[in-house]
Amino acid sequence: MRQSRPSVNALSGKQDEATNPPATATDDTVAARSVNTPSGPRVAATHVVAQERTEGPERLPREMDAWVVARPGPMGTHPLERTRLPVPTPGPGELLVWVEVCAVCRTDLHLAEGDLTPRRPRTVPGHEVVGRVAALGPGTAGPAPGTRVGVAWLRSTCGICRYCRRGAENLCPSSTYTGWDADGGYAEYVTALADYVYALPEDEPADKLAPLLCAGIIGYRALLRADLPPGGRLGIYGFGASAHLTAQIAIAEGAAVHVMTRSEAAQELARTLGAASVGGSAGVPPEPLDAAILFAPVGDLVPVALAALDRGGTLAVAGIHLTDIPVLNYQRHLFQERTLRSVTANTRADGRRFLELASLHRPRVTTTPYPFDAADEALRDLATDRVDGAAVLFI
Ligand SMILES: [Zn+2]
Ligand SMILES: [Zn+2]
Repeated sequence: MRQSRPSVNALSGKQDEATNPPATATDDTVAARSVNTPSGPRVAATHVVAQERTEGPERLPREMDAWVVARPGPMGTHPLERTRLPVPTPGPGELLVWVEVCAVCRTDLHLAEGDLTPRRPRTVPGHEVVGRVAALGPGTAGPAPGTRVGVAWLRSTCGICRYCRRGAENLCPSSTYTGWDADGGYAEYVTALADYVYALPEDEPADKLAPLLCAGIIGYRALLRADLPPGGRLGIYGFGASAHLTAQIAIAEGAAVHVMTRSEAAQELARTLGAASVGGSAGVPPEPLDAAILFAPVGDLVPVALAALDRGGTLAVAGIHLTDIPVLNYQRHLFQERTLRSVTANTRADGRRFLELASLHRPRVTTTPYPFDAADEALRDLATDRVDGAAVLFI
Protein backbone atom coordinates (compact mmCIF):
# COMPACT_ATOMS: atom_id res chain seq x y z
CA MET A 1 0.00 0.00 0.00
CA ARG A 2 2.70 2.47 0.97
CA GLN A 3 6.13 2.93 -0.34
CA SER A 4 8.90 2.38 2.09
CA ARG A 5 8.86 4.86 4.92
CA PRO A 6 10.79 7.95 3.89
CA SER A 7 13.54 9.05 6.10
CA VAL A 8 15.32 12.32 6.46
CA ASN A 9 18.39 13.79 7.97
CA ALA A 10 16.59 15.36 10.86
CA LEU A 11 19.44 17.63 11.80
CA SER A 12 20.22 19.17 8.45
CA GLY A 13 16.81 18.59 6.90
CA LYS A 14 18.64 18.15 3.59
CA GLN A 15 16.90 16.35 0.79
CA ASP A 16 19.91 14.30 -0.19
CA GLU A 17 18.37 11.05 -1.23
CA ALA A 18 21.26 10.27 -3.53
CA THR A 19 23.93 10.30 -0.86
CA ASN A 20 22.10 8.66 2.01
CA PRO A 21 21.49 4.95 2.37
CA PRO A 22 18.08 3.69 1.27
CA ALA A 23 15.17 4.53 3.52
CA THR A 24 14.62 2.16 6.36
CA ALA A 25 11.08 0.90 6.27
CA THR A 26 9.42 1.25 9.63
CA ASP A 27 6.14 0.91 7.82
CA ASP A 28 2.87 1.53 9.46
CA THR A 29 0.65 -1.47 9.16
CA VAL A 30 -2.52 -0.25 7.62
CA ALA A 31 -5.18 -2.82 6.93
CA ALA A 32 -8.56 -2.33 5.38
CA ARG A 33 -11.36 -4.77 5.94
CA SER A 34 -14.84 -5.17 4.66
CA VAL A 35 -17.68 -4.07 6.88
CA ASN A 36 -21.40 -4.48 6.61
CA THR A 37 -23.59 -1.44 6.84
CA PRO A 38 -27.34 -1.03 6.60
CA SER A 39 -26.90 -0.12 2.95
CA GLY A 40 -24.92 -3.27 2.20
CA PRO A 41 -21.30 -4.32 2.33
CA ARG A 42 -18.63 -1.84 1.46
CA VAL A 43 -14.91 -1.97 1.53
CA ALA A 44 -13.99 0.47 4.19
CA ALA A 45 -10.83 1.36 5.94
CA THR A 46 -12.17 0.98 9.38
CA HIS A 47 -9.33 -0.94 10.92
CA VAL A 48 -6.04 0.84 11.03
CA VAL A 49 -3.10 -0.23 13.09
CA ALA A 50 -0.34 2.32 12.99
CA GLN A 51 3.01 2.12 14.62
CA GLU A 52 3.49 5.10 16.89
CA ARG A 53 6.13 7.47 15.68
CA THR A 54 8.43 8.71 18.34
CA GLU A 55 10.86 10.74 16.27
CA GLY A 56 11.15 12.50 12.94
CA PRO A 57 12.13 10.87 9.67
CA GLU A 58 15.78 10.08 9.07
CA ARG A 59 15.96 11.24 5.48
CA LEU A 60 13.71 13.28 3.21
CA PRO A 61 12.48 11.89 -0.07
CA ARG A 62 12.05 14.24 -3.05
CA GLU A 63 8.45 13.28 -3.70
CA MET A 64 5.47 12.36 -1.60
CA ASP A 65 1.97 10.93 -1.85
CA ALA A 66 -0.81 13.51 -1.59
CA TRP A 67 -4.45 14.14 -2.36
CA VAL A 68 -5.52 17.34 -4.12
CA VAL A 69 -8.89 18.92 -4.85
CA ALA A 70 -8.67 18.54 -8.64
CA ARG A 71 -12.23 19.33 -9.73
CA PRO A 72 -14.43 20.81 -6.97
CA GLY A 73 -17.88 19.24 -7.12
CA PRO A 74 -20.19 16.74 -5.39
CA MET A 75 -18.31 13.78 -3.85
CA GLY A 76 -20.02 11.49 -6.40
CA THR A 77 -18.01 13.23 -9.15
CA HIS A 78 -14.67 12.38 -7.47
CA PRO A 79 -13.33 15.89 -6.82
CA LEU A 80 -10.23 14.54 -5.04
CA GLU A 81 -7.29 13.12 -6.96
CA ARG A 82 -4.49 11.00 -5.59
CA THR A 83 -1.15 12.24 -6.87
CA ARG A 84 2.60 12.59 -6.32
CA LEU A 85 3.99 15.99 -5.43
CA PRO A 86 7.46 17.28 -4.62
CA VAL A 87 8.09 17.34 -0.88
CA PRO A 88 7.62 21.05 -0.08
CA THR A 89 10.58 23.14 0.99
CA PRO A 90 9.95 25.13 4.18
CA GLY A 91 10.38 28.88 3.70
CA PRO A 92 11.69 31.43 6.20
CA GLY A 93 10.01 30.94 9.57
CA GLU A 94 8.45 27.67 8.43
CA LEU A 95 8.71 24.05 9.44
CA LEU A 96 8.41 20.96 7.32
CA VAL A 97 6.11 18.59 9.22
CA TRP A 98 6.04 14.84 8.62
CA VAL A 99 2.34 14.05 8.87
CA GLU A 100 1.30 11.19 11.11
CA VAL A 101 -2.47 11.63 11.05
CA CYS A 102 -4.85 14.24 9.67
CA ALA A 103 -8.42 14.46 10.90
CA VAL A 104 -11.17 15.14 8.40
CA CYS A 105 -13.21 18.30 9.00
CA ARG A 106 -16.50 19.26 7.39
CA THR A 107 -14.70 22.27 5.95
CA ASP A 108 -12.61 19.83 3.85
CA LEU A 109 -15.89 18.58 2.41
CA HIS A 110 -17.01 22.16 1.66
CA LEU A 111 -13.70 22.71 -0.17
CA ALA A 112 -13.91 19.43 -2.11
CA GLU A 113 -17.49 20.09 -3.14
CA GLY A 114 -16.82 23.74 -4.06
CA ASP A 115 -19.08 25.29 -1.39
CA LEU A 116 -16.01 27.21 -0.29
CA THR A 117 -14.44 28.86 -3.33
CA PRO A 118 -10.94 27.50 -3.99
CA ARG A 119 -8.23 30.08 -3.37
CA ARG A 120 -5.71 28.27 -5.59
CA PRO A 121 -5.90 25.26 -7.93
CA ARG A 122 -5.11 21.69 -6.88
CA THR A 123 -4.72 22.42 -3.19
CA VAL A 124 -4.05 19.63 -0.71
CA PRO A 125 -6.87 19.80 1.89
CA GLY A 126 -6.58 19.02 5.61
CA HIS A 127 -6.05 21.24 8.65
CA GLU A 128 -6.06 18.96 11.71
CA VAL A 129 -2.54 17.56 11.41
CA VAL A 130 -0.54 15.72 14.04
CA GLY A 131 3.03 15.15 12.93
CA ARG A 132 6.69 15.62 13.70
CA VAL A 133 9.06 18.35 12.65
CA ALA A 134 11.14 17.02 9.75
CA ALA A 135 13.14 20.12 8.82
CA LEU A 136 13.40 23.83 9.59
CA GLY A 137 13.26 26.63 7.01
CA PRO A 138 15.88 29.39 6.85
CA GLY A 139 15.95 31.42 10.07
CA THR A 140 13.46 29.16 11.86
CA ALA A 141 14.61 28.74 15.44
CA GLY A 142 12.52 25.68 16.36
CA PRO A 143 10.90 23.50 17.50
CA ALA A 144 13.63 20.94 16.96
CA PRO A 145 13.32 18.18 14.37
CA GLY A 146 11.46 15.21 15.82
CA THR A 147 9.19 17.38 18.00
CA ARG A 148 5.52 16.46 17.85
CA VAL A 149 3.40 19.40 16.65
CA GLY A 150 -0.15 20.17 15.57
CA VAL A 151 -0.97 22.12 12.42
CA ALA A 152 -4.41 23.74 12.48
CA TRP A 153 -6.74 25.87 10.33
CA LEU A 154 -5.22 29.29 11.09
CA ARG A 155 -2.05 29.35 8.99
CA SER A 156 -1.02 33.00 9.30
CA THR A 157 -2.14 36.52 10.20
CA CYS A 158 -0.53 39.84 9.32
CA GLY A 159 0.42 40.83 12.87
CA ILE A 160 0.14 44.56 12.13
CA CYS A 161 -3.51 45.35 11.39
CA ARG A 162 -5.76 46.92 14.04
CA TYR A 163 -7.31 43.52 14.84
CA CYS A 164 -4.00 41.70 15.19
CA ARG A 165 -2.60 44.53 17.34
CA ARG A 166 -5.47 44.29 19.79
CA GLY A 167 -5.29 40.49 20.15
CA ALA A 168 -8.17 39.72 17.78
CA GLU A 169 -6.10 37.99 15.11
CA ASN A 170 -9.08 35.76 14.31
CA LEU A 171 -10.53 38.86 12.59
CA CYS A 172 -7.37 39.68 10.58
CA PRO A 173 -8.48 40.50 7.01
CA SER A 174 -5.18 39.08 5.69
CA SER A 175 -5.39 35.77 7.56
CA THR A 176 -4.62 32.59 5.61
CA TYR A 177 -5.78 29.04 6.21
CA THR A 178 -4.19 25.60 6.00
CA GLY A 179 -5.62 23.46 3.22
CA TRP A 180 -7.24 26.47 1.54
CA ASP A 181 -4.59 29.17 0.95
CA ALA A 182 -1.77 26.64 1.21
CA ASP A 183 -1.41 22.88 0.94
CA GLY A 184 -2.67 20.96 3.96
CA GLY A 185 -2.33 17.60 5.63
CA TYR A 186 -3.75 15.04 3.19
CA ALA A 187 -0.12 14.39 2.28
CA GLU A 188 3.03 12.91 3.76
CA TYR A 189 4.51 16.34 4.44
CA VAL A 190 3.14 19.82 5.01
CA THR A 191 4.76 23.16 5.72
CA ALA A 192 3.57 25.45 8.50
CA LEU A 193 4.80 28.62 10.14
CA ALA A 194 6.61 27.72 13.35
CA ASP A 195 4.74 30.48 15.21
CA TYR A 196 1.38 28.92 14.30
CA VAL A 197 1.89 25.26 15.22
CA TYR A 198 0.84 23.87 18.58
CA ALA A 199 2.91 21.86 21.04
CA LEU A 200 1.24 18.49 21.63
CA PRO A 201 1.63 15.91 24.40
CA GLU A 202 3.55 12.71 23.67
CA ASP A 203 1.31 10.49 25.78
CA GLU A 204 -1.85 10.65 23.66
CA PRO A 205 -2.45 8.69 20.45
CA ALA A 206 -2.18 10.96 17.40
CA ASP A 207 -5.69 10.15 16.18
CA LYS A 208 -7.19 11.32 19.49
CA LEU A 209 -5.32 14.62 19.30
CA ALA A 210 -6.03 15.54 15.67
CA PRO A 211 -9.77 16.31 16.06
CA LEU A 212 -8.94 18.70 18.89
CA LEU A 213 -7.15 20.95 16.40
CA CYS A 214 -10.28 22.26 14.69
CA ALA A 215 -13.46 20.84 16.22
CA GLY A 216 -12.03 21.33 19.69
CA ILE A 217 -10.46 24.75 19.28
CA ILE A 218 -13.41 26.33 17.45
CA GLY A 219 -15.84 24.90 20.00
CA TYR A 220 -13.74 26.36 22.78
CA ARG A 221 -13.77 29.77 21.10
CA ALA A 222 -17.59 29.50 21.02
CA LEU A 223 -17.60 28.66 24.73
CA LEU A 224 -15.54 31.77 25.45
CA ARG A 225 -17.86 33.90 23.32
CA ALA A 226 -20.87 32.53 25.22
CA ASP A 227 -19.53 34.13 28.43
CA LEU A 228 -20.52 31.25 30.67
CA PRO A 229 -20.11 32.28 34.32
CA PRO A 230 -18.33 29.85 36.72
CA GLY A 231 -20.70 27.04 37.67
CA GLY A 232 -23.24 28.38 35.18
CA ARG A 233 -25.98 26.78 33.12
CA LEU A 234 -25.01 26.19 29.48
CA GLY A 235 -27.33 25.19 26.64
CA ILE A 236 -25.87 23.42 23.61
CA TYR A 237 -27.95 23.23 20.42
CA GLY A 238 -26.70 20.52 18.05
CA PHE A 239 -24.27 17.84 19.23
CA GLY A 240 -21.60 16.92 16.64
CA ALA A 241 -17.81 16.66 16.83
CA SER A 242 -17.23 20.20 18.08
CA ALA A 243 -20.15 20.25 20.54
CA HIS A 244 -19.26 16.94 22.17
CA LEU A 245 -15.75 18.20 22.98
CA THR A 246 -16.98 21.61 24.17
CA ALA A 247 -19.59 20.02 26.44
CA GLN A 248 -16.97 17.85 28.12
CA ILE A 249 -14.72 20.84 28.82
CA ALA A 250 -17.65 22.87 30.20
CA ILE A 251 -18.82 20.01 32.42
CA ALA A 252 -15.30 19.41 33.70
CA GLU A 253 -15.06 23.11 34.54
CA GLY A 254 -18.22 22.88 36.64
CA ALA A 255 -21.05 23.89 34.29
CA ALA A 256 -24.50 22.29 34.14
CA VAL A 257 -24.87 21.46 30.44
CA HIS A 258 -28.25 21.05 28.75
CA VAL A 259 -28.12 19.48 25.27
CA MET A 260 -30.77 19.98 22.62
CA THR A 261 -30.26 17.77 19.56
CA ARG A 262 -32.27 15.75 17.07
CA SER A 263 -30.35 12.50 16.64
CA GLU A 264 -30.96 9.77 19.18
CA ALA A 265 -27.34 8.63 18.96
CA ALA A 266 -26.18 12.16 19.79
CA GLN A 267 -28.65 12.37 22.66
CA GLU A 268 -27.32 9.11 24.04
CA LEU A 269 -23.74 10.35 23.72
CA ALA A 270 -24.68 13.56 25.56
CA ARG A 271 -26.15 11.54 28.44
CA THR A 272 -23.05 9.36 28.60
CA LEU A 273 -20.81 12.41 28.75
CA GLY A 274 -22.68 13.85 31.72
CA ALA A 275 -25.23 16.32 30.34
CA ALA A 276 -27.62 17.60 33.04
CA SER A 277 -30.52 17.20 30.62
CA VAL A 278 -31.01 16.09 27.03
CA GLY A 279 -33.89 17.07 24.76
CA GLY A 280 -34.99 17.46 21.13
CA SER A 281 -33.41 20.00 18.77
CA ALA A 282 -35.81 22.82 19.74
CA GLY A 283 -36.51 21.52 23.25
CA VAL A 284 -36.91 23.75 26.30
CA PRO A 285 -34.23 23.16 28.95
CA PRO A 286 -35.46 22.54 32.51
CA GLU A 287 -33.89 25.75 33.82
CA PRO A 288 -33.05 29.17 32.33
CA LEU A 289 -29.62 29.35 30.68
CA ASP A 290 -26.78 31.70 31.54
CA ALA A 291 -25.21 30.96 28.17
CA ALA A 292 -25.96 28.98 25.02
CA ILE A 293 -24.03 27.86 21.95
CA LEU A 294 -25.77 27.16 18.66
CA PHE A 295 -23.72 24.50 16.83
CA ALA A 296 -26.50 23.46 14.44
CA PRO A 297 -26.41 25.75 11.36
CA VAL A 298 -30.12 26.43 11.73
CA GLY A 299 -31.25 30.05 11.99
CA ASP A 300 -34.72 28.98 13.18
CA LEU A 301 -33.09 27.93 16.44
CA VAL A 302 -31.79 31.45 17.23
CA PRO A 303 -35.10 32.71 18.72
CA VAL A 304 -35.57 29.34 20.45
CA ALA A 305 -32.19 29.63 22.17
CA LEU A 306 -32.61 33.34 22.97
CA ALA A 307 -35.96 32.62 24.61
CA ALA A 308 -34.27 29.98 26.77
CA LEU A 309 -31.72 32.47 28.14
CA ASP A 310 -31.99 33.92 31.61
CA ARG A 311 -31.64 37.67 32.17
CA GLY A 312 -28.21 38.83 30.99
CA GLY A 313 -27.57 35.56 29.12
CA THR A 314 -25.53 35.22 25.93
CA LEU A 315 -26.09 33.11 22.81
CA ALA A 316 -23.02 32.41 20.64
CA VAL A 317 -23.55 31.10 17.10
CA ALA A 318 -20.60 28.78 16.45
CA GLY A 319 -20.80 28.03 12.72
CA ILE A 320 -19.41 29.73 9.62
CA HIS A 321 -22.77 29.25 7.92
CA LEU A 322 -26.27 29.78 9.34
CA THR A 323 -29.60 29.69 7.56
CA ASP A 324 -31.68 32.87 7.81
CA ILE A 325 -32.72 33.98 11.28
CA PRO A 326 -36.49 34.57 11.59
CA VAL A 327 -37.85 37.90 12.85
CA LEU A 328 -36.99 38.40 16.51
CA ASN A 329 -39.32 39.86 19.09
CA TYR A 330 -37.50 42.37 21.24
CA GLN A 331 -39.35 41.52 24.47
CA ARG A 332 -39.25 37.75 24.10
CA HIS A 333 -35.78 37.36 22.64
CA LEU A 334 -33.50 40.26 23.56
CA PHE A 335 -34.80 42.48 26.37
CA GLN A 336 -33.32 41.97 29.86
CA GLU A 337 -29.87 42.39 28.32
CA ARG A 338 -29.67 39.13 26.47
CA THR A 339 -26.87 39.10 23.87
CA LEU A 340 -26.54 37.41 20.46
CA ARG A 341 -22.99 36.89 19.14
CA SER A 342 -21.19 35.19 16.25
CA VAL A 343 -17.91 33.25 16.43
CA THR A 344 -15.22 33.73 13.79
CA ALA A 345 -12.28 31.30 13.60
CA ASN A 346 -9.92 31.45 16.58
CA THR A 347 -6.78 33.04 17.90
CA ARG A 348 -3.63 31.08 18.73
CA ALA A 349 -4.22 31.93 22.39
CA ASP A 350 -7.61 30.16 22.15
CA GLY A 351 -5.89 27.12 20.69
CA ARG A 352 -3.18 26.96 23.33
CA ARG A 353 -5.64 27.42 26.18
CA PHE A 354 -7.98 24.77 24.80
CA LEU A 355 -5.16 22.24 24.37
CA GLU A 356 -4.10 22.90 27.98
CA LEU A 357 -7.66 22.24 29.16
CA ALA A 358 -7.84 19.12 27.00
CA SER A 359 -4.63 17.83 28.57
CA LEU A 360 -6.11 18.48 31.99
CA HIS A 361 -9.60 17.10 31.44
CA ARG A 362 -8.89 14.47 28.75
CA PRO A 363 -12.17 14.66 26.85
CA ARG A 364 -13.29 11.44 25.18
CA VAL A 365 -12.69 11.75 21.43
CA THR A 366 -14.67 9.42 19.18
CA THR A 367 -12.91 8.67 15.88
CA THR A 368 -13.29 6.51 12.78
CA PRO A 369 -9.90 5.62 11.24
CA TYR A 370 -9.17 5.51 7.49
CA PRO A 371 -5.91 4.68 5.72
CA PHE A 372 -4.39 7.40 3.57
CA ASP A 373 -5.52 5.64 0.40
CA ALA A 374 -9.17 6.11 1.43
CA ALA A 375 -9.25 9.91 1.92
CA ASP A 376 -11.95 10.30 -0.72
CA GLU A 377 -13.98 7.57 0.92
CA ALA A 378 -13.71 9.32 4.28
CA LEU A 379 -15.13 12.49 2.74
CA ARG A 380 -17.89 10.53 0.98
CA ASP A 381 -18.82 8.92 4.28
CA LEU A 382 -18.83 12.32 5.99
CA ALA A 383 -21.11 13.69 3.25
CA THR A 384 -23.60 10.87 3.88
CA ASP A 385 -23.33 11.01 7.69
CA ARG A 386 -21.73 7.59 7.94
CA VAL A 387 -18.82 8.64 10.12
CA ASP A 388 -18.89 7.94 13.85
CA GLY A 389 -17.24 10.91 15.57
CA ALA A 390 -14.34 12.38 13.59
CA ALA A 391 -12.84 10.61 10.58
CA VAL A 392 -9.05 10.42 10.86
CA LEU A 393 -6.59 9.63 8.07
CA PHE A 394 -3.46 7.67 8.95
CA ILE A 395 -0.83 9.01 6.60
ZN1 LIG B 1 -3.86 41.28 10.87
ZN1 LIG C 1 -12.00 22.49 10.46
